[in-house]
Amino acid sequence: TAASGGGLVAYADSAAENASEPSQEAPKKKVVVLGTGWAGTSFLKDLDCSKYEVKVISPRNYFAFTPLLPSITCGTVEARSIVEPIRRMFEKKKKDVTFYEAECFKIDASKKAVHCRSAVGTNFDGNGDFIVDYDYLVVALGATLNTFNTPGVMEHCYFLKEVEDAQKIRRNVIDCFEKASLPNISEEEKRRILHFVIIGGGPTGVEFAAELHDFLVEDLVKLYPAIQDFVKITIIQSGEHILNMFDQRIAAFAEMKFKRDGIEVNTGFRVVKVSDDLITMKSKSLGEVSVPYGMAVWSAGIGTRPVIMDFMQQIGQTNRRVLATNEWLRVHECDGIYAIGDCASITQRKIMEDISTIFEMADKDNSGTLTLKEINDVLEDICIRYPQVELYMKSMHMLDTRDLIKDAIGDSHKESMVVDIEEFKKALRHVDSQVKSVPATAQVAAQQGHYLAKCFNKMDQCKEQPEGPLRMTGLGRHNFRPFRYKHLGQFAPLGGEQAAAELPGDWVSMGHSTQWLWYSVYASKQVSWRTRMLVVSDWTRRFIFGRDSSR
Ligand code: FAD
Ligand code: MG
Ligand code: MG
Ligand code: MG
Ligand code: MG
Repeated sequence: TAASGGGLVAYADSAAENASEPSQEAPKKKVVVLGTGWAGTSFLKDLDCSKYEVKVISPRNYFAFTPLLPSITCGTVEARSIVEPIRRMFEKKKKDVTFYEAECFKIDASKKAVHCRSAVGTNFDGNGDFIVDYDYLVVALGATLNTFNTPGVMEHCYFLKEVEDAQKIRRNVIDCFEKASLPNISEEEKRRILHFVIIGGGPTGVEFAAELHDFLVEDLVKLYPAIQDFVKITIIQSGEHILNMFDQRIAAFAEMKFKRDGIEVNTGFRVVKVSDDLITMKSKSLGEVSVPYGMAVWSAGIGTRPVIMDFMQQIGQTNRRVLATNEWLRVHECDGIYAIGDCASITQRKIMEDISTIFEMADKDNSGTLTLKEINDVLEDICIRYPQVELYMKSMHMLDTRDLIKDAIGDSHKESMVVDIEEFKKALRHVDSQVKSVPATAQVAAQQGHYLAKCFNKMDQCKEQPEGPLRMTGLGRHNFRPFRYKHLGQFAPLGGEQAAAELPGDWVSMGHSTQWLWYSVYASKQVSWRTRMLVVSDWTRRFIFGRDSSR
């Protein structure tokens, strides 16, 4: 429909005018939230739970602050310090929410229900299956790991996705050191056991390598002096550089620092097989190479959860990795289902698909041409609905409408600049190339949760549009502008009290002061004062006493 698509209809009056009497008698609509990660909890935190009957389903009854997971792997921060119990969050905010600790294994969009399974079982058969129905479903299931079907990875590698993963890594690192310290172990075997390989040179892999290196030089060399010379850390990265989602300056800085630290970075290598003591990798120039290793951590890419895969099949979103939503975060062609965070991606409507409608709307006097003023009057609304227009103008250093259409009609018209539909199309023909997809980060997930909660909180003000964000195509309707990601920058901790940061406005900073910025940002981002206290005291403890090297 034009409403969910082109969007220009939304000039019609709708929302605020109908805000008068909220229907008190009607039963509350049921909202079911799947997942208590970044997206799910940020939605729940901001949702006005008195307006809905809210049920939350997740196999983990806590929220985990994932950016600090790498710090857990070496005991810089304790696992307890980065998790916040979900029930405690609700209790603290006095929110009336029902929580089920269970896994959703099927979303049935036609019956508006989700099928769940509890790990502990709910009846005497030990069968913990149950069904929960909904009016609105918020899918915030995140992503899972992705081995790209590389043989041996599942069996032999460690991962870094959940809190338990990080704890396992911590135990195994120490195990390796103890094993290599045993008598009657050859030097060659020691070298193998103490060879730590990280597969994947993204932010997580790099941060883990840096953590491990710090743990080694700051703590372990003192405790295991006899074997320190046998330790080696290697990063294997398929791309040409590590941290390739960051500014080049940061990637170069990280590679330099790792070189100085003695961390080997193998770029241009793809791991093709992992056995219990050998990693086989392949590069274009060198062919296949196998190296002995003691511990391997796989951190190369994220995959789709089976339940999401199954749901996508059901609704015809095949050959995709994540659920496709519109700009209001509603899953395409699904009534009342929204998806946020790593399990979803937004399909931005192309301006070229709506260009004729836009032209007609803007042409108030029906002259068949647009004047500068006519375009100016709608430009702001257009930029809200199609953010790529603003990005395009910025990238082309265009200041105003005049600059935008100059290119299509040449300079000749000077004062009386008017364009017909063909010229209008020509002026905007490259705009859609600026459509950007949002990354799979906590920052995006949290912003989406926050945005969707705001939409839900206002939904009852729009009686004529009960499905809320579905029809809030909102050109000019401020409450329900499409979701827009605001990038606040990103950090890459590199060890040795150094970090790199990329902040908005092309601002890059690296070194020790950036590490302090990192400490303060990550302390402030903690979800509660309790976890903030714990994290900060873990850091302090580490500064004073070093890390705890027991398991
Ligand atoms: P998640 O946070 O993964 O939440 C998914 C939720 O769904 C979980 O509660 C899970 O238990 C639940 N769930 C899973 N399966 C089911 C099921 N079948 N039924 C019901 N519930 C289910 N991002 C940043 O922006 N900055 C960083 O510094 C950063 N560092 C990271 C470091 C590591 C080690 C990792 C792994 C990720 C990091 N990220 C970072 C990425 C960030 O964690 C994710 O982008 C973010 O968690 C996505 O949020 P989400 O809510 O979509 O998914
Ligand atoms: Mg979530
Ligand atoms: Mg999380
Ligand atoms: Mg998600
Ligand atoms: Mg006109």
